[in-house]
Amino acid sequence: MTANLLDFDLEGLAAFCERLGEKRFRATQLFRWIHQRGARDFDQMSDLAKSLREKLKTSARVEGLQVISRQESADGTIKWLFDVGNGDAVEAVFIPEDDRGTLCVSSQAGCAVGCRFCSTGHQGFSRNLTTGEIVAQLWFAEHFLRQHLKTTERVISNVVMMGMGEPLQNYTALVPALRVMLDDHAYGLSRRRVTVSTSGMVRMIDRLAHDCPVALAVSLHAPNDELRDNLVPLNKKHDLAELLDACNRYLAFAPRDFITFEYCMLDGVNDQPEHARQLVDLLRHHGGHGVSCKINLIPFNPFPQSGLTRSPHKQVLAFAKILSDAGIVTTVRKTRGDDIDAACGQLAGDVKDRTRVEQRIVRQRTVMLKQVPATATGAKET
Ligand code: SAH
Ligand code: SF4
Repeated sequence: MTANLLDFDLEGLAAFCERLGEKRFRATQLFRWIHQRGARDFDQMSDLAKSLREKLKTSARVEGLQVISRQESADGTIKWLFDVGNGDAVEAVFIPEDDRGTLCVSSQAGCAVGCRFCSTGHQGFSRNLTTGEIVAQLWFAEHFLRQHLKTTERVISNVVMMGMGEPLQNYTALVPALRVMLDDHAYGLSRRRVTVSTSGMVRMIDRLAHDCPVALAVSLHAPNDELRDNLVPLNKKHDLAELLDACNRYLAFAPRDFITFEYCMLDGVNDQPEHARQLVDLLRHHGGHGVSCKINLIPFNPFPQSGLTRSPHKQVLAFAKILSDAGIVTTVRKTRGDDIDAACGQLAGDVKDRTRVEQRIVRQRTVMLKQVPATATGAKET
């Protein structure tokens, strides 16, 4: 079996080159061809010696993921469904905004955490993605978009590990993938523009701080343990106090001086003024000095089996006001791509449900991809 070069960060690729009897610096050239130029054919890599190209042809490959479907929302959001074999599929979502282009990437087929409000969680866990499968989502989307927009400039400026799966439950595959995203010879994204979102894997948060401190988002969803135990089962293992301690430790290494807390607004469950006041108290006083943070309120995106409903907009605004008045920077996330089930928590990627997939494929054939706003390119640092 040949090696898939998408599985390697630069260090791994250099070691691979050495095993082929080549100098380590060849890896940099190879890395650039693959990630910066989107090449997969070794014959295209004209500045590599012919002898190396021949060796690569017999020992390596650049293998992306099979695209099952591509859908585009009226708001420009694009969702791809990728086949990862054995009836599993994962999704990646591109969200163009005025000053940036964000790709939401999956880390697992399914998820074992089983949060009540999450469609991926309801689907159960199938398997971890490999580094190559995580990287392939970015590799494919970036080069697809460049070709589509007829640009040689970078289109994706931000990556959020907020697709399917709990990234910190797939730590060994995740870290090399993050390194590829950050590497100047590949995508060159700044640490501030790569975000890992976790439901609260405390020990792994500490490891990430040392191995690859990118921006951190923590899915909180509740201001007390009783409620959080019910919504995010992982809380029974690592309670809020433990989780917030880990956040404070992370801040010493983080590229930003705050943690983003995500809070999914569920009607009548966690959206009352009393919950907002508890949240203020928790985040202002935990451990004596509180946690430096921003809060992102996410309107719940419903799916049939959840038995939950979205908080009314008025309720979300009232909740946000209590937090803002207490001096906590709070934003309400705009829902993007919900007409194509691409919004947060709607990613199920279930190819076992063939009818749905076939409908999607038909839709994809009939819908021509519209122009992504040009403002999504050439994003500025924020
Ligand atoms: N497993 C990680 C990352 C993937 S989920 C995590 O839980 O953080 C990405 C974000 O979407 C999380 O904040 C998650 O809580 C939120 N989310 C999940 N289901 C949702 C839904 N149905 N509506 C809105 N947000 C949801
Ligand atoms: Fe898994 Fe995150 Fe969904 Fe929870 S919200 S089930 S951790 S993907």
